[in-house]
Amino acid sequence: MSRRARREPRLNVAVLSGGVGGARFVRGVVDVAAAAATTVVGNVGDDVEVLGLHVSPDLDSILYALSGLADERRGWGRSDETWDALETVGSLGGDDWFALGDKDLGLHLVRTEALRAGEPLSTVTARLAEQLGVATRLLPATDDRLRTWLDTPAGTFPFQEWFVARGHRDEVDAVRFEGEKAARPAPGVLEAIAGAELILLAPSNPYVSIGPILAVRQLRDALVRRRVPCVAVSPLIGGRAVKGPADRMLQRLAGGTSPAHVAGCYPGLIDALVVDEADADDLEGLGDIRPIVTRTLMSSRDARRRLAEVALGAVPA
Ligand code: GDP
Repeated sequence: MSRRARREPRLNVAVLSGGVGGARFVRGVVDVAAAAATTVVGNVGDDVEVLGLHVSPDLDSILYALSGLADERRGWGRSDETWDALETVGSLGGDDWFALGDKDLGLHLVRTEALRAGEPLSTVTARLAEQLGVATRLLPATDDRLRTWLDTPAGTFPFQEWFVARGHRDEVDAVRFEGEKAARPAPGVLEAIAGAELILLAPSNPYVSIGPILAVRQLRDALVRRRVPCVAVSPLIGGRAVKGPADRMLQRLAGGTSPAHVAGCYPGLIDALVVDEADADDLEGLGDIRPIVTRTLMSSRDARRRLAEVALGAVPA
């Protein structure tokens, strides 16, 4: 296995991550820690079958971010993307509500064929990562079918219908995970958690990005039993989500958007919470959870790296 020499000492890190915010953070972590000593456990609750293809948006955001293929401005998908296939789909009256670029579609074709041939998602993901030159290990939380559903005043929706087709405009009354009882951690996940010297929860949506990962019972139990620090990074700045519905969900489901409300999503699971300077005056109610105050907006490579350094610094070198 080729390993690029990175900053010493090497710290074995396991990062639980969603898509957009998670992928940005993971890039920072990999910049600071050794790529080969980092394992990312990705959310599959928002996986979706579109046009007969299996799409894993969060795993792909991470793959694209770590391979340098991501469209950083848009925040998802690949850079230099073209949309001919989807336009054709639309012109033929097909399903074109879920934006899939031509290059992106190529990856979904390869993944879908492998899954149909009986390969587990973790194996396909490892192969895709290798082909893309990604040295970091990326594991789906589970190879089993796990899907996020939202109960809203307008009805119950599968994740992507609520998030993409309806623009997450409906308030959320409850989040449910189809398949959670049967879902087992994908191969390597429990080992990565057991072997980590530090566990990180990326600044992803606690309910629909980290929540589905924690819905895998054995994975959650492994976190509860951890013997190493677990540090979460808040996805809120000044009580507001940088992007997406995390703030509205916290307000409605947890009763507020303070650091304590974010920490409340991870009961018994975290030892420290990295919060933005904009929330530094609002640290009441954290109890045993240590606040680590810093700037958390990942607006540049340097900003990502600084945030990762702070989170990784929770373990003395
Ligand atoms: P998704 O699965 O694609 O929705 O992505 P995630 O759940 O991983 O990321 C969405 C979350 O990332 C949102 O709640 C954002 O508030 C958060 N986020 C995005 N960029 C930043 C950032 O620069 N700093 C912080 N602290 N959070 C961010």
